[in-house]
Amino acid sequence: MVALSASLVGTIERKACGCEVDTAASAYSVWTYLMSLMLVSVLARVRDSFPNRALTFRLCGAPRVAHIGPMQIDRSYLEQTLAALVRINSVNPKFSDGSTDEHAIATHLGGVMRALGMEVTLHESAPRRTSVVGRLRGRGDGRSLMLYGHIDTVGIEEMRAPLSARIRNGRMHGRGTYDMKGGVAACIAAVKAIVNSGERLAGDIVVVGAADEEVASTGMAEVLKHVRTDAAIVTESTELQLCLAHKGFCWMEVEVEGRAAHGSRFEEGIDANMAMGRFLGRLDTLERDLRTRAPHALVGPPSLHAAVILGGSGTSTYAAHCRLEIERRTIPGETEESALAEIQSILDALAGSDATFRARVRPLLSRGSFEAHPDSSIVQIVQAAATSVLASPPNIIGEPYWMDAALLADAGIETVVIGPSGAGAHATKEWVDLDSVHSVAEILARSALNFCG
Ligand SMILES: [Zn+2]
Repeated sequence: MVALSASLVGTIERKACGCEVDTAASAYSVWTYLMSLMLVSVLARVRDSFPNRALTFRLCGAPRVAHIGPMQIDRSYLEQTLAALVRINSVNPKFSDGSTDEHAIATHLGGVMRALGMEVTLHESAPRRTSVVGRLRGRGDGRSLMLYGHIDTVGIEEMRAPLSARIRNGRMHGRGTYDMKGGVAACIAAVKAIVNSGERLAGDIVVVGAADEEVASTGMAEVLKHVRTDAAIVTESTELQLCLAHKGFCWMEVEVEGRAAHGSRFEEGIDANMAMGRFLGRLDTLERDLRTRAPHALVGPPSLHAAVILGGSGTSTYAAHCRLEIERRTIPGETEESALAEIQSILDALAGSDATFRARVRPLLSRGSFEAHPDSSIVQIVQAAATSVLASPPNIIGEPYWMDAALLADAGIETVVIGPSGAGAHATKEWVDLDSVHSVAEILARSALNFCG
């Protein structure tokens, strides 16, 4: 049966039997509407004659009609692919004293991609810090789409059976299931569905398995030196919600200089720790001020915390140095420069009122925030695909944590984020909901069909 709703001036939507008809809002005459109805019926019959083909029609003077054939996600292939990824230890070396890396999982994933007919390249940001890129060639006359996931995980200490990939009650357990090998497996299963459909798309589909997202994103930075697409879907876990923004971060170091002296020589010593204390008082005021500023609609207000502090050399010595690392979480519109300027103005004020106060601030590592334009083509297409697969429109959200989506957007690639449901990212119990991974794979396949043509 076909469910059809229409208004003579407005939008016509149709969703039935796994197919979609999207129409732009514009005025239609009753005659045009009836003709469209007849054409839809004809197209449905054509579709039934070619059940494994994805067909796109553009009618002269009529709205674009995208007709998508059934996309079969191979559930057992999806689960086996995910389980194999989980069983490969790909803990970021930062969390394993350098004893693990992404090389094994990248080469394994490369083999999986080759078996699907993809062209595979490996990219190393450092020895064995390997990212993998697979390209499913299209006909060469359409838009290219990147499906993104990172392949490194955080550590596995204190986890029971972190690499077991055990399935219980529809959940797969283990490190990386939720953050984010589930998303990677969904990307692969989506490509397999497209390959199995027999359709050769106009544009390329590029799957990226990036290294080092959990620390400094050197993997994706390296990949972006070699790979560009017209749009990207990041499959970090979002509980099947559509994420259009995330925060950035700026790591800064403040170093206060004192003067070392014997503990009895107060007239000679300048206490760097005490001076840092005065700075921390002002920093505390700034932190509270940040959270009273107008919040971003999707990611809320900015924040900061005094993460690491180290000062002094012995109990009987005036501290000559005190060093503080600050993490500042930025929202769209803020930059590293603006975050540094706030700290510098505190240092200037303290130096202005105390001639012995000497300090400097310098950036350590910054990553920008991310914000997608809701009207962009990829956002519209993924939103429509998710609405169809989930039978209701996905929530629009922002995430507080950083993702590689910002690097993609900075590279001029329209990007949106949608991923599976689960829990336990960076925690001792991690799992992903397999139904949601299946849904993500279907959303990706449908989005690729519509975007790549
Ligand atoms: Zn992640």
